[in-house]
Amino acid sequence: MENYWQWALLLLPLAFLAGWLLSKRRSRRLRRQLRFSNDYFQGLNYLLNDEQDKALDVFIKLVEMDWDTVDTSLALAAIFRRKGEIDKSIKLHQSLLARPSLPAEYKSRVLLELGRDYQLAGWLDRAEGLFNDVLKDELYAQDALRHLIEVYQQEQEWQDAIKVAEQFQKQADSDFAAMVAQFYCELSEQRHQQGDNKEAESLATQALSKDESCVRASIILARLAMQAGKYKKALRFLKQVEVQNAGFLPVIINDLYLCYQHGSGVQDLIQYLQQLEQHYPEVNLCAPISELILQEQGESVALDYLTSSMLKKPDLKGIQKMLQLQGSKAVCEDNQLPEVIDQMLQSQPEYQCSKCGYSANTLFWLCPSCHSWASMKPR
Ligand SMILES: [Zn+2]
Repeated sequence: MENYWQWALLLLPLAFLAGWLLSKRRSRRLRRQLRFSNDYFQGLNYLLNDEQDKALDVFIKLVEMDWDTVDTSLALAAIFRRKGEIDKSIKLHQSLLARPSLPAEYKSRVLLELGRDYQLAGWLDRAEGLFNDVLKDELYAQDALRHLIEVYQQEQEWQDAIKVAEQFQKQADSDFAAMVAQFYCELSEQRHQQGDNKEAESLATQALSKDESCVRASIILARLAMQAGKYKKALRFLKQVEVQNAGFLPVIINDLYLCYQHGSGVQDLIQYLQQLEQHYPEVNLCAPISELILQEQGESVALDYLTSSMLKKPDLKGIQKMLQLQGSKAVCEDNQLPEVIDQMLQSQPEYQCSKCGYSANTLFWLCPSCHSWASMKPR
């Protein structure tokens, strides 16, 4: 009994000391949390008042205090980036990376985001380096590869783009064949410009082997064949376009013309185009057909063709042609209609992107607006 009291007296101060220490720790944590939430709200306040530099400083300080705010900081950086304030986004991401205690699970994510900042800022070499680092992390490898392809596209490093895209195809198990084919086409055109037609042909053939519906590769191969005087071979490639994507037929009219001129004659081309016109009513071939009929069979046949064609499927280009043909016979001099139609046609660019609606008078294989491949087509 005496022993019991002795132990009790001895443990009492220890219990007291433990209680005091615990309460001190708890109050320190509470104080820290209180300060944290005060700073947090102050940061938000700065943001709401559009004082973004101050907000940025507060959030950078918060990240140092509590790693739980990494997600908040990443979200904030994303907002800065979306608003075009890439310098702030970079600062935030760099400050996260500079902390030696950045939790490992965040490292690749922050690297990836910083890479995207650099990419947008036009520092492509830096972006490329970071994306390559992230490739080692399986969780973010696909995102990194996707951005790496974009960087190579921007740098026009087609060889690297092909290498990475093919790797991506394996990893993501997605169909990137059409994109890889475009890269081969780009390389092929580069070689052609350098005068190496043999290599250009081989690369365009590889493009077709990657994506048999690659119109651009067929056109490249046809033009290379024509350059070598092989019109029959060229025509074989041109006739693939109908099956690949009939919407591109208006793009190859001149090439077809040259092939038929050196082959069975323009009369056969008119027949072929009229067949296409029946098969693909959505493709507008009326204007070139009427032009060819005019050249081969004269004004009145061309006018007959146009009149019946316009009754079936009226369109501005056809009406313009009709008026041009009728013009020589027209007596009414103050007829403003031809001019009105000319103006309407001038305000309608020839090609339009089927993905984003961007339009231009030049055919871009890579849409300058939404960066989709082969999405621009004749209207
Ligand atoms: Zn587009």
